[in-house]
Amino acid sequence: MKIIEQPAQAAVDRCAGNHFYFGGHEQIVYFQHEPTALQAIVAIHDTTLGPALGGLRFLEYENESAALKDVLRLSRGMTYKSAIAGLDVGGGKAVILKKKGVALTEALLRKFGTFVDSLGGKYITAPDVNTHVNHMVQVAKSTRHIACLPIALGGSGDPSENTAYGVYLAMKAAVKKTVGTDSLAGKKIGVEGVGKVGYFLVQLLCQEKAFVYVTDICPKRLEAITAVCKVEVVVAGTLHSLPLDIYAPCALGATLNSKTIPKLRCAMVVGAANNQLACEESDAKLLLEHGILYLPDFLANAGGIINAATELEKGPFNKSWVKERTEQLYDTCLDVLHRAEASNCSTKEVAQAIAQERIQSIKSICHNG
Ligand code: NAD
Repeated sequence: MKIIEQPAQAAVDRCAGNHFYFGGHEQIVYFQHEPTALQAIVAIHDTTLGPALGGLRFLEYENESAALKDVLRLSRGMTYKSAIAGLDVGGGKAVILKKKGVALTEALLRKFGTFVDSLGGKYITAPDVNTHVNHMVQVAKSTRHIACLPIALGGSGDPSENTAYGVYLAMKAAVKKTVGTDSLAGKKIGVEGVGKVGYFLVQLLCQEKAFVYVTDICPKRLEAITAVCKVEVVVAGTLHSLPLDIYAPCALGATLNSKTIPKLRCAMVVGAANNQLACEESDAKLLLEHGILYLPDFLANAGGIINAATELEKGPFNKSWVKERTEQLYDTCLDVLHRAEASNCSTKEVAQAIAQERIQSIKSICHNG
């Protein structure tokens, strides 16, 4: 097992050529284990509110730099997400670099668990893109710093359904702010990615009689959703340019960028995907300039972390606590939208400021004893 710990600043400098900068991470650790071909990075952004909780992503990256950029952005988003959702956890994230012939075997997942364990509880892992609760069962053989184990094993299970519920509530808040009532009936909503979250989200939207358009690059996922819901399937890569009330990115990040935003024909963007904005500052402003209401991803998709946090905050899975906390997201979304309008700031700036304010208030108490 090889662990390389990098000072946060060194990692940032290393990617400076890629035009991104992320300050403020507490710890970034590279992990390598040759026998299982495991190569992972854990980024711990902020633990002021509690241990850094965030999922494990298994993805093929263009290069190591791209993986680092992803984990840095994702972990920072987790800090904001938990802070704005009022949870007592911090922000972290892990990525395993998917390479040819590398699968999530039991041996690899156990090794990853050893790595998580070596961080002494500062980082708590959970599922994310391409990992699920059954993978967590393997990781748990080497560490107890884990969330989202199956409910039958005393965990909180797959958070995706609750993530979808939070996104659905965020959509309702966005519509309420725009037209005064929060019904989604008759609204044209496009869901990009019908994986773990999109699958549940589409069902909620169909139950409320929205007109739902879906797209996915995986035919099996499309088959699964069309088997249970009446939706229109559109070609991948075209959804964002349809005339929609709401465009919901629920696949991977960066679908909102300087090329796609001018092509958007929707009134609102509310989705589950993390890091929807390719460039946080300029793309949030671009959406504002185009008159498109945007609810920041880390707010709209906070239902998942609320679900996972019940395992840490409340012991065994507490469904009513999760529901109550998730439903508060509706009011938080409305609050962000109102404050953004009043200050002429982007919703991203406002939501981040609310999260940072909470963290700062705790930091100052700690600092002043
Ligand atoms: P998933 O892997 O189950 O689903 C993603 C889906 O997107 C897959 O079906 C995939 O085929 C599809 N996809 C990938 N690229 C695409 C493209 N270019 N066009 C159309 N479809 C494409 O992942 P998930 O758990 O549903 O998560 C979706 C997003 O939401 C991710 O960004 C994730 O980080 C975020 N998120 C998930 C949760 C959760 O509880 N699962 C919580 C918070 C945030």
